[in-house]
Amino acid sequence: MSFQPTQEQKMAAEGLRKLLDNDIEPAFLAHGSGPIPKEMMVGWLKQLAEHGLTNAPHPEQYGGLGLDWVTHLRLYEEVGYSAMDIALPILINCVAADLLIQSAPEHIKERYLSGLLSGDIIASVGISEPDVGSDVAAVKTRAVRDGDDWIINGEKTWISNGELSDFFVCTCKTGEGELTHILLDRKEHPYEVRGIPKMGLNGQSTAQIFLSDVRVPVENTIGGIGAGLKNTLVTFERARVHMGAWGYSIARRAMDEAIKYSQQRTQHGKQIAGHQLIAEKIATMATEIDAARLLGIRAAEMIDLGLRCDKECAMAKWYGTEIAVKATRDALQIHGGNGVTTDFIVERLVREAIIAPIPDGTTEIQKLLIARALTGVQAFR
Ligand SMILES: Cc1cc2nc3c(=O)[nH]c(=O)nc-3n(C[C@H](O)[C@H](O)[C@H](O)COP(=O)(O)OP(=O)(O)OC[C@H]3O[C@@H](n4cnc5c(N)ncnc54)[C@H](O)[C@@H]3O)c2cc1C
Repeated sequence: MSFQPTQEQKMAAEGLRKLLDNDIEPAFLAHGSGPIPKEMMVGWLKQLAEHGLTNAPHPEQYGGLGLDWVTHLRLYEEVGYSAMDIALPILINCVAADLLIQSAPEHIKERYLSGLLSGDIIASVGISEPDVGSDVAAVKTRAVRDGDDWIINGEKTWISNGELSDFFVCTCKTGEGELTHILLDRKEHPYEVRGIPKMGLNGQSTAQIFLSDVRVPVENTIGGIGAGLKNTLVTFERARVHMGAWGYSIARRAMDEAIKYSQQRTQHGKQIAGHQLIAEKIATMATEIDAARLLGIRAAEMIDLGLRCDKECAMAKWYGTEIAVKATRDALQIHGGNGVTTDFIVERLVREAIIAPIPDGTTEIQKLLIARALTGVQAFR
């Protein structure tokens, strides 16, 4: 395992940092906290694709760069550092691309993959429902065969990219204990979408999706009938590595803001960075961010090596997202009263960090997965 980025990874991250610092982050901040219009989001995704996001870890035959997940993760961290509202759509697009590459029939790959990897197309992936959260096997949205079509009925919720996406990979129940992924094209198989206002990350979309007798050709089945649960678990591994990076990228930004502030602000006759209780907070942040990144890089390297890594991905997700909650809170505390105002970005980081321990399996679920891998005994129910 490489602790330090390679020369290529360093150069790629530096190039990306320049684009984010000089162009994308200022435009994102000027836009404000409201929903980012689709054209604006696609514009940013296309610029980022030129720097390896979303395309770095995917095969060249589909428009990817054929690099590794470790490189992708190092680049992903930079986007999260600047704007999680843009990094989250990239996470979903990347995971959807991986799912299509692994499991979709050729005609679906041909139709959607190059656009997805170039940033022109946005995807959604939906498991969660009003009554289905941590227990993913309990999906109720039903797909019933009618000749060469599926007829889909149900309701999905918390669907990232929902309002912006061009297609939606829906996890459907197709038989008793049988889950199947079906791709719905927004234009060809219309469904109703409603945005969900949240405490943060309202630039990107989180939505409810209502499916009422939606007719989709059976040839839009991804991964074969009944493969939905198995493929969801693989998807979760990729998503969880990104989720850990969501956490430590925000934490790193919060730490940098706190360091800057603590050097400038003086109280009791000296810079607050010189007060020991402030110094302790910064030292803890730095150490936890490094630990979280190392967990993430280890999991990504295991994905690259084709090793089983459900436990390692769960560790990366749990630890990265939880240290973000702590680090952003401490960064706000270091800002004192200024921290709660919208003049300083730490208040936004706190709101974005506290969301991270929930999607793609809550912290509690990650701990159950880790313990099950170690003991062989499941504690889910
Ligand atoms: C911003 C955001 C984006 C999301 N994006 C997507 C998306 O794109 N696609 C998608 O399908 N879903 C998405 N989700 C949904 C997300 O995956 C679920 O919210 C998550 O899995 C938890 O499910 P739940 O909210 O129903 O909570 P519940 O499952 O109801 O859990 C409630 C609480 O009970 C705990 N709990 C549940 N079961 C156990 C147990 N066995 N032991 C101990 N504690 C337990 C949980 O940890 C949690 O604290 C998103 C959610 C958010 C907030």
